[in-house]
Amino acid sequence: MRTVYVNGEYVAERDAKISVFDRGFLFGDGVYEVSTVLDGKLVDNAAHLARLDRSLQALSIPSPAGDDEILEIQRQLIVRNALEEGVVYLQVTRGAADRSFDWPEQPAPSLVMFTQAKPVRGNPKAEVGLSVALVPDLRWKRRDIKTVTLLPASWAKMQAAEQGCDDAWMVEADEDGVERVTEGSSNNAFIVTADGVLVTRNLGDEILHGITRRSVLQLAAEIQLRVEERAFTPEEAKAATEAFITSASSFVMPVVQIDGAVIGDGAPGPISRRLRSLYIATAESEAI
Ligand code: PMP
Repeated sequence: MRTVYVNGEYVAERDAKISVFDRGFLFGDGVYEVSTVLDGKLVDNAAHLARLDRSLQALSIPSPAGDDEILEIQRQLIVRNALEEGVVYLQVTRGAADRSFDWPEQPAPSLVMFTQAKPVRGNPKAEVGLSVALVPDLRWKRRDIKTVTLLPASWAKMQAAEQGCDDAWMVEADEDGVERVTEGSSNNAFIVTADGVLVTRNLGDEILHGITRRSVLQLAAEIQLRVEERAFTPEEAKAATEAFITSASSFVMPVVQIDGAVIGDGAPGPISRRLRSLYIATAESEAI
């Protein structure tokens, strides 16, 4: 039985309660963050809390607690649940108010946090790589805000599963009418071209500004990889020599099949492997 945090209290998960009028429940009116825990310590956490502030500001949801206070709660949950490896999830909603499309004038935001234990560093999928299906991107147009409205992403993942794939990469037509990959269902998408260039979509409203994406681009610069931040087509993806995804809980995870096309020789490629091990080494040394 886990201890979770709900609006100022640490309670057993079965005793945790949120109002049926909570706007997160009724309108999906909330945002979230996921920080990974390695050896009981938080990875890239300051960047996750900075993005939380950005999401809250974008939607005019008042911050329920300062960064120091949130960090203290994250650490309390790690200790109380003896979490060695996994994630700390945190969600802020606009809180409970009588049901109305109008935002309440004086919102009382809800803050909920819990831990999930899972293998991150030793994830066996990293050895074999993932298969991804290409599916239409049905999400709204402000994907840079990390909202809890994850149904389109969850649906995309289920469509991929129906095709026997591990995950989905989402595709939509840009302004020029050409289809391009936006990102993975819950991760950023990278490819390596035949001439060795690492390509990932540029930041904008079309994708979430992944914290792991940013860290991996820093590592790529340190090892002098050629990098292009731009959108790429499904055809380019299928012709890539390597591919991978990044997210807080998957780090760098190789992709070996895209829409049935085998990538490289069908095994995780050298650049993906190198970036994964560099990311893990950095995470281990910098976690707080
Ligand atoms: N894109 C989407 C749509 C996501 O949901 C996530 C993870 N929540 C990411 C990218 C990866 O972001 P991060 O590296 O910050 O976990």
